[in-house]
Amino acid sequence: MFDKIVIANRGEIALRILRACRELDIKTVAVYSSADRDLKHVRLADEAVCIGPPSSTDSYLNIPAIISAAEVTDAEAIHPGYGFLSENADFSEKVEQSGFVFIGPKADTIRMMGDKIQAKKAMIAAGIPCVPGNGDPLSDDKAENLKLAHEIGYPVIIKAAGGGGGRGMRVVHTEAALINAITMTKAEAGAAFGNPTVYMEKFLEDPRHIEFQVIADSHGNAIHLGERDCSMQRRHQKVVEEAPAPGLSDEERDRMGKLCAKACLDIGYRGAGTFEFLYEKGQFFFIEMNTRVQVEHPVTEMITGFDIVKEQLRVAAGEKLSKTQDQITFTGHAIECRLNAEDPTNFMPSPGKINQFHMPGGPGIRCETHIYNGYVVPPFYDSMIGKLIAHGEDRNSAIARMKTALSEMIIDGIKTNIPLQQDIMADSAFALGGQNIHYLEKKLGLD
Ligand code: ADP
Repeated sequence: MFDKIVIANRGEIALRILRACRELDIKTVAVYSSADRDLKHVRLADEAVCIGPPSSTDSYLNIPAIISAAEVTDAEAIHPGYGFLSENADFSEKVEQSGFVFIGPKADTIRMMGDKIQAKKAMIAAGIPCVPGNGDPLSDDKAENLKLAHEIGYPVIIKAAGGGGGRGMRVVHTEAALINAITMTKAEAGAAFGNPTVYMEKFLEDPRHIEFQVIADSHGNAIHLGERDCSMQRRHQKVVEEAPAPGLSDEERDRMGKLCAKACLDIGYRGAGTFEFLYEKGQFFFIEMNTRVQVEHPVTEMITGFDIVKEQLRVAAGEKLSKTQDQITFTGHAIECRLNAEDPTNFMPSPGKINQFHMPGGPGIRCETHIYNGYVVPPFYDSMIGKLIAHGEDRNSAIARMKTALSEMIIDGIKTNIPLQQDIMADSAFALGGQNIHYLEKKLGLD
């Protein structure tokens, strides 16, 4: 096992990684921007190195500064968390070229999954069900494009190969709008991602978002940890996540989970990852693979008792997976509410000083946050300040526990989305389970 690693992230996930390291007796180096001196994990880490000014570009995205921090502290590996450089193939490559272990997949895998066309091709080859549409780059041949759209059937979606973060996509409902939409998406993709390549697939109108968690070692073993339903979204951002997905049968979980684990072996995957699917009328359609730990990993941990972050560290250090597929079991139901420093009605960020923080507790409650009394939420980064997770013997009991925990929680001084989360937990359609990805925006009157 590693003796010392660098945590190349901030906020709750940096703290989560630090805790996993402590359990495994690994020393930690926190790297932080000058706006983040007071972050909880910076205070708790064995060593801390300031890597730049507040702007992420100059700090958390500053590859040379992070690698230098690993060099001066004599660390062995770098954990990228999520966001920032976690899915940056150049970073992973430079980390390994500099003699450190990147805690995640190989650079080539990240690069392949970062290109939606390549990813789709690899998934089709691995037998993973994909959205109808062959995934070939669109040519400039108008007749050919019209023919393809006709074959797929309207509505179709034009997607940029290099797109991300919900950008670089355009839905087309009619033949008359197709050619113009392709031209515009190509131009935008070229400007935004430096890659004008686009492709076409069927646009699914009312899908749910269901994703499978996998983890693989470098000895040819891969397992799945079941699925999560993340359909409660606003602007393609997840707001509430849960596991298991309401209504999914054990047979479907087993079948899809095993397909994903097998695909990991096919593509030589290493580390933790997530296969994201749209799920409509009982069918799964692959949209992308995330090659890192995800914000919502705790709901899976709660129902499996499997520590995903510790396992990431173990497999990165060259160990074999600690469990076989047969040893993974699913118990009860878990729900996660993301906690954001934002106005719950207009979603404007609300940074500032937290005068009072009271963390809820009780059976099945887990709170992942870096905030504390007197902590100042800086205005420079994502507004997520933590996550509240509730586990219960079934979905209703998890919701009841979440409601109790939300009502106990006090975050005073800044605005948070706790009222929105309470509203969702009290919603009668949410209580039924299985709503689609448009439900929350419709409820909020935003669609
Ligand atoms: P990104 O990398 O930008 O997150 P994704 O391919 O994961 O892009 O898609 C983001 C979101 O766009 C999905 O969660 C879904 O809401 C929507 N989307 C993407 N492809 C389709 C599709 N074929 N049909 C319907 N919605 C889609």
